[in-house]
Amino acid sequence: MRDIAIAGAGMAGLHAAESLREAGFDGRITLIGEEGHRPYSRPPLSKEFLTGKGAPAGLDLREDAAFGALDLDWRLGRRARRLRPRERAIELDDGSAVTADGVVIATGSRARRPGTALPGVHALRTVEDAEAVRDAFKAHDRVVVVGAGFIGAEIASSARTAGLEVVLIEAAPTPLTRVVDPRIGSVLTELHRDNGVDVRLGSGVTGFEGRGRVERVRLDDGSAVEAPLVVAGLGALPNTEWLEGSGVEVAAGTGGVLCDEYCRTALPGVYAAGDIAAWPHPRYGGRMRLEHWTNAGEQAAAAVGNLLAGEGAGTPYTPVPYFWSDQYGMKIQLLGQAAPADTAEIVHGSAEDRKFVAFLGRAGMLVGVLGLRSTPKVMRYRRLLSEPTTWQDALAEVSPRS
Ligand SMILES: Cc1cc2nc3c(=O)[nH]c(=O)nc-3n(C[C@H](O)[C@H](O)[C@H](O)COP(=O)(O)OP(=O)(O)OC[C@H]3O[C@@H](n4cnc5c(N)ncnc54)[C@H](O)[C@@H]3O)c2cc1C
Repeated sequence: MRDIAIAGAGMAGLHAAESLREAGFDGRITLIGEEGHRPYSRPPLSKEFLTGKGAPAGLDLREDAAFGALDLDWRLGRRARRLRPRERAIELDDGSAVTADGVVIATGSRARRPGTALPGVHALRTVEDAEAVRDAFKAHDRVVVVGAGFIGAEIASSARTAGLEVVLIEAAPTPLTRVVDPRIGSVLTELHRDNGVDVRLGSGVTGFEGRGRVERVRLDDGSAVEAPLVVAGLGALPNTEWLEGSGVEVAAGTGGVLCDEYCRTALPGVYAAGDIAAWPHPRYGGRMRLEHWTNAGEQAAAAVGNLLAGEGAGTPYTPVPYFWSDQYGMKIQLLGQAAPADTAEIVHGSAEDRKFVAFLGRAGMLVGVLGLRSTPKVMRYRRLLSEPTTWQDALAEVSPRS
């Protein structure tokens, strides 16, 4: 293998390139990225970057010298528009093509944008989006945040830190309804309210109104909320469109690129990693697709390891998923997986104190550990998720002093 092309220059794309070099691959690596930037860190975009507290350098993932040492054929500001399976060639939007022996698909996901062209309505995915929101925070004293998922919650928190009046609108009855038990979701609701956010739960947004720019958000009960500025946190969609007709299988809906346990797609020599990849994780059943920072790096390393190992060799990718979120100076961490129907039991601390560790269980097995302001304890239980652990065995590991 002499030529490897990586589509997508985000966290997964960068780690794919770095892992190839670390493994001693000295052939050509082409890194194709639609954004005009070298890979940068997205998590600060909804946190310190928005409040103006983070220096722009906080987004840098590597020093210039480290990027240079990778000796990559950079194709930044170029979009992959088609994957031609027979020659294993990636066609770019300038009409050129990159032919490779191996391909890593790392085109990630994009923000689901609200369906309006009215100025003053934002979504948040790229550094340009974050700059626009940060500037808007300086120009306005009130913002309506639509969606109380992790990103929406962080935007609300940052807006409060920046001194804005915040209305947080969520269609579901509690924040993170698709992720956690409502009891835990309600802890997060109270966290917003105690920090002065006007939280409107069970309110669907039906439209954005205004003359020349947004002035109001219309809700499904017919009422309107004054909104000189709107930031939407409506989730993300995997960037799979360019793969149409390539033979790479893509799940219906928002499901991403279908891979096997080696992160291999249906096309030989073509692997996927990061936000875009959906692969079977033996401990969780079905296919898993994670929009998590840590996964992007770990999965890219696993995918290129398997690409270099070749067909019939390699190692299944079975990580302990990890996600964190920072809101109002508190860290929320999730190891493993969480679904609303999971059993949730607080094993340290309490919801009232806003400091706890909860075990999440499904079908008699431990599937996740969720913590608020409890980093060392959460991390201590990581090993229970690196192998199958029954709910009873997990509880037996908890000692009041641990
Ligand atoms: C505001 C924000 C805050 C976040 N905070 C956290 C957090 O606190 N904790 C956490 O665990 N995770 C967080 N995440 C999620 C985390 O950033 C993602 O999981 C991670 O960025 C995924 O990396 P990726 O490389 O797979 O995809 P991406 O970061 O999406 O990178 C993919 C790259 O590919 C490019 N691309 C897309 N299509 C093409 C194409 N056709 N041709 C060429 N290039 C293309 C994209 O422009 C992009 O640059 C956050 C995400 C956002 C947006």
